[in-house]
Amino acid sequence: MKLDVNALRYLSKDDFRVLTAVEMGMRNHEIVPAELVDRIAGLKHGGTYKVLKNLLKHKLVHHDSSKYDGFRLTYLGYDFLAIKTLVNRGVFSAVGRQIGVGKESDIFEVATEDGTVLVMKLHRLGRVSFRAVKSKRDYLSHRSSYNWLYLSRLAALKEFAFMKALGEHEFPVPTAIDCNRHCVVMSLIQGYPLVQVKQLQNPDDVFETIIGLIVCLAEHGLIHCDFNEFNIMIDDNEKITMIDFPQMVSVSHRNAKMYFDRDIECVFKFFRKRFNLSYEEEREHDEGLVCDSGEDGGRLCFSSIEKSAGFLDKELAASGFTTKDQDDIQKYIEGEKENGGEDDDEDGDDEDGDDEDDAAAEEEDDDGPIGVQISSLKIADQPEESATSNIADE
Ligand code: ADP
Ligand code: MG
Repeated sequence: MKLDVNALRYLSKDDFRVLTAVEMGMRNHEIVPAELVDRIAGLKHGGTYKVLKNLLKHKLVHHDSSKYDGFRLTYLGYDFLAIKTLVNRGVFSAVGRQIGVGKESDIFEVATEDGTVLVMKLHRLGRVSFRAVKSKRDYLSHRSSYNWLYLSRLAALKEFAFMKALGEHEFPVPTAIDCNRHCVVMSLIQGYPLVQVKQLQNPDDVFETIIGLIVCLAEHGLIHCDFNEFNIMIDDNEKITMIDFPQMVSVSHRNAKMYFDRDIECVFKFFRKRFNLSYEEEREHDEGLVCDSGEDGGRLCFSSIEKSAGFLDKELAASGFTTKDQDDIQKYIEGEKENGGEDDDEDGDDEDGDDEDDAAAEEEDDDGPIGVQISSLKIADQPEESATSNIADE
C-alpha cells in the first residue's frame, strides 16, 4: 500500500482533530455517524463536515453507508495518527523507504532529527484474511466492528513488550524504542535476513548460536513460533539478531512443545539444505528433539526445559500487555492458521453484504513497494494539545 507521508505536512490541526474523533468513535461504532464525529471533535460552526471531506480526499477515512451513514478510519488514516504522535514525541522526524513488506506488516526506515536511521513497523493484522477474523467473531464479538484496528494495535503492543523485555535480558534483538497504536519503532539492524545469505564463514557456529537461542528463550519461558531464516538477521561478522515477535507464546501454552519442535526443525532443515550441514535430529518418543548442538554436545529436549511460567511473563504484564491481550491475539493467529488463508477473496464479492472489510480490501489493491523519498515531517501547523477537547492528549 502507498504511504505518501507528504500529505501529513499539509494536514491542519483541525484535520487531525477530526481524524482522532473518528478513531475515538470507532471504539464503540463500526461506522461513526458524522454527527458523533462532530460532537467528539467539538469544532466550531460545523467545521467537522468540511474537514471530513478533506480527509476523504486524502483517503484517511472511508465513507460508508451500507448500514447507516458514517465514516471509519482507513489504514492510512491510522498510519497518519500513529506517525503524527511519534513525530510529536520526537521519536523520529522523517519517513524514508520501505524495507520490508510482510503478510501482516509494512516496514519503513525513519530518521531522527540528528539523522539516526531507525525502523518503523506498521502492523496490519487482518489485511490478508480479514474474512477469517469475521468468521471468528465469537471470540472478538465485542470488538467485531473494528477488529483490524484492535488486532494491529495488540500485535504492536506485544511486539514492543517482547522486544523490550528480551533486550533487557540481553537477547540479540533490535532495541525497542517506542510504540503507538499499530506502530513499533526499533533500531535498524545492519545485516540481512539469513534467507538471503548464500555462504557463511562458520556455518557450524551460526547454527549452534541459533539453536542455543531457541533453547535459551525456552529457558526464559518463551517460544518464538516463527523462528526461521526470514526472521533471523545476520551481519558481516555473522552476528545474529532475531526479529518479529507478535506470535511468541509461553512454554505453558498447550501446543508449546509442537511450536518449539517446529522452530528447531526449521533451523535444521534450512542449514541442512543451504549449508550442507549433516546434523541429524532424532525424535525420542515424546521427548522432543535431541541433538548435538551446544559446546557440551548436550541434549536438547523440550520436556527437560522447565515449564515454569517464565519470569518474563511478569515483565510483559508490567508493560501493559495483559493475559487477555495475549489470548485475543493468540486466538487470531491460531484462527489464521486453521483458515490457511483460503479465505482471501480477491474478487471483492461480499456475500453477506457487509462491507466492513473495505478498509482492508481497498488497500490490498496496490501492495507494491513504495519509494517515498526521505521526507521531513516537520509539520508547519503542529497541532497543540487542546484544552477543551474531548480528545485525550497523546
Ligand atoms: P513480518 O512480520 O511482516 O514478517 P518482520 O519483522 O519479520 O515482519 O520484518 C520483515 C522484514 O523487514 C525483515 O525480513 C527484514 O528484512 C526487515 N526488518 C524488520 N525489522 C528490521 C530491523 N530492525 N532492522 C533491519 N531490517 C528489519
Ligand atoms: Mg517476519
